[in-house]
Amino acid sequence: MNTKYIFVTGGVVSSLGKGIISASIGKLLQARGYKITIQKFDPYINIDPGTLNPYEHGECYVTEDGMETDLDLGHYERFTGIRTTRHNSITTGRIYKTVIDRERRGDYLGKTIQVVPHITDEIKRRMLREDVEEEELDFVITEVGGTIGDIESAPFMEAIRQLRWQLGRDAVCVHLTYVPYLKAADELKTKPTQHSVKELQGMGIQPDILVLRTERHLDDALRLKVASFCNVSLECVVQSEDMASIYEVPVSMQRQGLDAAILRKIGIPSGETPAMKPWRNFLNNWRRATREINIGLVGKYDLQDAYKSIRESLNLAGIYDGVRTKIHFINSEGVTDENVAEKLEGLAGIIICPGFGQRGIEGKIVAAKYTRTHDIPTFGICLGMQMMVIEFARNVLGYEDANSSEMENQTEHNVIDMMEEQKSVTQMGGTMRLGAYNCELTEGSRACEAYGGTTKISERHRHRYEFNNIYKEEYEVRGMKCVGINPGTNLVEIVEIPSLRWYIGTQFHPEYSSTVLHPHPLFMSFIKACI
Ligand code: GLN
Repeated sequence: MNTKYIFVTGGVVSSLGKGIISASIGKLLQARGYKITIQKFDPYINIDPGTLNPYEHGECYVTEDGMETDLDLGHYERFTGIRTTRHNSITTGRIYKTVIDRERRGDYLGKTIQVVPHITDEIKRRMLREDVEEEELDFVITEVGGTIGDIESAPFMEAIRQLRWQLGRDAVCVHLTYVPYLKAADELKTKPTQHSVKELQGMGIQPDILVLRTERHLDDALRLKVASFCNVSLECVVQSEDMASIYEVPVSMQRQGLDAAILRKIGIPSGETPAMKPWRNFLNNWRRATREINIGLVGKYDLQDAYKSIRESLNLAGIYDGVRTKIHFINSEGVTDENVAEKLEGLAGIIICPGFGQRGIEGKIVAAKYTRTHDIPTFGICLGMQMMVIEFARNVLGYEDANSSEMENQTEHNVIDMMEEQKSVTQMGGTMRLGAYNCELTEGSRACEAYGGTTKISERHRHRYEFNNIYKEEYEVRGMKCVGINPGTNLVEIVEIPSLRWYIGTQFHPEYSSTVLHPHPLFMSFIKACI
């Protein structure tokens, strides 16, 4: 079978959950035995979201091959278990950069470089993954960020229009819109959907399938109305009602035949509906889990999406132990020695969050001290691990001025210091230590036990600073052990205090590799300790 292409666009408003729908389509096709990938095209000019503030764009996700990407790639991986790469996250900035670099090289000598055809050709090349060396795929799902009608997404739409023409039945367009409920009129309104589809048609794209996001159930009459106004058949109008969990979405889409409709459009017999046993087992466990466990996230971003993968990793791990994880955000800027006991009261464990810069770090250090001295399970991730290390230096090793050179470059006791390779870096974008690196675990350590006894792991990173090895012995003598080391560079990747119940910090980000069917072992072990 030659590769088929599914395009997912969105209309009416943003934040409808295109990423979840794309991931669900991927999951459902995968369950039918197809080899898939999911990629995201974002209309902004940044080369990648690595330099964006989480307030702008939520969490920055990192692929194994070290690309800083949109957080939707996290959904793709968690839902499908595939591993994405730098080819799965493209921005307008990257498209333009490629074209402009080519122009400077002289590849287009004599020609005027234009949005059409040069930019659109480059978009098409990437949508078709012509530049990627990979095993042949059955389906490539392409999600386009932004909303139909945005000026900046027009070149992407033009590329899709051309590709549809070129690919014929091998391309399917899924358009996601919103059906609002007007309380005063007690009515669900389809007009925004009709307008959005018109806009798409105006760009020369007839959607094959409509997914209507709604807070209330849409009856057949309403779906029929949308179908007839939008030139789509009734069974191709699917609704995506608000669900108690995003992990219900694939099952709901399957029930309404979204995957079968896609196959029909392409002309593949849909056959039997897959049982999706493991996924349904997970959902059953989720429904059965009624006991709650309270976990605190100590960080500076009071924003759901800023710690997306950590939240999902905690939720997923909890389900495997029969508990619902209730996450409490604790703004580290407001945590002091005086109020820490009150702020952390009732929490079974805390995560000390990743981050950059000075803001909120003293609160993280206070929290780390409190949980260390009260033996409350604590998981420090990246900057969180670094704060555990600094706290230990200040309060156990007796270096009151201990700090990271990120925060205080004059400090005498820089227990966290800039990595050697980073010292010559002058550019900000994409220059951190990024992506997966190997790590060797100390046999018998808590971390090694969490990983099921294996001593060789590989985890994803995103940082410039590291544990200062000059202090390693002092830490170990006083009870904080360095139990995960990069074999090539000797960088400390994991610290733990074995005398406590669960006090572990990782320089890497385990949250990026948790999936629905395989939550990360460190999160599983942490949740167990919290229970
Ligand atoms: N700011 C820290 C560093 O660069 C930690 C980064 C992070 O938490 N991702 O090392």
